[in-house]
Amino acid sequence: LVERMRGFGTTIFAEMTALAVRTGSINLGQGFPDTDGPPGMLAAAVAAIEGGGNQYPPGPGLPELREAVAAQKKERYGLDYDPETEVYVTVGATEGIAAAVLALAGPGDEVVAFEPTYDSYAATVALAGARLRTVLLRPVQGRFTFDPDELRAAVTPRTKVILVNSPHNPTGTVFTRDELAEIAAVCRDRDVTAVTDEVYEYLTFDGAEHVPLATLPGMRDRTVVVSSVGKTFSVTGWKTGWVTGPAAHVRAVQTVKQFLTYATGGPWQHATAYGLRAELPWVAELRASLERKRDRLITGLEAAGFVAYRPQGTYFVQADIRPLGYSDGVALARALPDAAGVVAVPTQVFYQRPEDGAAFVRFAFCKRDEVIDEAVRRLAGLG
Ligand code: PMP
Ligand code: GLN
Repeated sequence: LVERMRGFGTTIFAEMTALAVRTGSINLGQGFPDTDGPPGMLAAAVAAIEGGGNQYPPGPGLPELREAVAAQKKERYGLDYDPETEVYVTVGATEGIAAAVLALAGPGDEVVAFEPTYDSYAATVALAGARLRTVLLRPVQGRFTFDPDELRAAVTPRTKVILVNSPHNPTGTVFTRDELAEIAAVCRDRDVTAVTDEVYEYLTFDGAEHVPLATLPGMRDRTVVVSSVGKTFSVTGWKTGWVTGPAAHVRAVQTVKQFLTYATGGPWQHATAYGLRAELPWVAELRASLERKRDRLITGLEAAGFVAYRPQGTYFVQADIRPLGYSDGVALARALPDAAGVVAVPTQVFYQRPEDGAAFVRFAFCKRDEVIDEAVRRLAGLG
């Protein structure tokens, strides 16, 4: 293994899911729903396969999907993208983020991201040979946020990209317009490109509004927007995503993506286009049901003695383990399957300095009510 990738080992999601399978535990670790996406969308994937859509799709993606993405950006956010030159289909958001970072940052360059950082970011920046600088999100009155001075201090003349994930995994923070305005000002003043990870764009709660950074003044032409089908439609295994942005940036992403995977699975693209056109009412119901599941899990975690942060988006709860008498989230996450028959993700692995995240573990609530209830019943015996 090349030196720059040493230390990344196995992703925490694979490790924790394997642990859940091995121990027969309830898996509130890796974020995937335990129910399927909209039946019409599943049928559209089957129809695409049976209808002969099984050879290489065009590298940039099926035209019907690029058009559906452009229409969604326009209708939901008022953002105009040319489906021919400003939309590109990728193998999940993960490839979109990786292709964007690889296209925009190289050796000697720096990438800024908010910490805790989703697990692929640090590895992708390392793959690019660039350096990651992080800005800590800290709890302030029950919500994780950043200090604008720390953001400005993290940006140097070498900074090429700011990676912005909102709604944010794992803290659940949905950046406000004021927070986004701080980020936008830094991008404009320091001539930095933003890469935004918006995979939870539909999963927001209590009326919190997802605002794409690209909608702020001057940002449309310096932002590469990444999203995907998995979380919105509960089909995380489809691994179909898309990048939208100014044509020059999308061309740069294309140059890299072509040689990573060339194209993205065709039947999923067909079904995703159908989903964006026809299944958004289903997504509205998913969102409402997730809000109830969030409250269900939080009530249970609080009863078990955790301090649980109520997320405004995503399907994760960040929980502080110290009231239970624990201080090391990694040790607790490793012990939990035997102690309680539950698997969680130690948030510490999303931090550069372990001590910043040691007190937290992350629980997913994209599960059937009875699964959440059984998990919290088991956790109640912990304290
Ligand atoms: N970014 C974040 C913040 C995520 O939580 C995930 C997991 N869905 C991804 C990216 C990866 O998305 P995909 O499965 O579409 O590659
Ligand atoms: N995004 C999912 C999570 O945060 C996991 C994705 C993955 O397994 N790579 O749990």
